[in-house]
Amino acid sequence: MKKIPQRTCIVCGNKIDKRNLVRVVKNKEGRIFFDPTGKANGRGAYLCGEDACIEGILKKNALNRAFKTDVAEEDKIRVMEEIKNGRK
Ligand SMILES: [Zn+2]
Repeated sequence: MKKIPQRTCIVCGNKIDKRNLVRVVKNKEGRIFFDPTGKANGRGAYLCGEDACIEGILKKNALNRAFKTDVAEEDKIRVMEEIKNGRK
């Protein structure tokens, strides 16, 4: 049986169910965006898809920690919108 790689949510720390996996990428140009394909190049951060965790992008600065960079507030808001509009 093939082992499914598990990811840890950057906000709540729970192990993520693959169905709900939300991937956010920071590419080498420094652009941060929601990656619905899971295949975009760059450093990935994962969220479990709970609304509270998506809100944590803004409220808990989760992406700053995940990417070890100062993410602009407008980028956080944009990524949150991308996730809310783009996930199934
Ligand atoms: Zn979470």
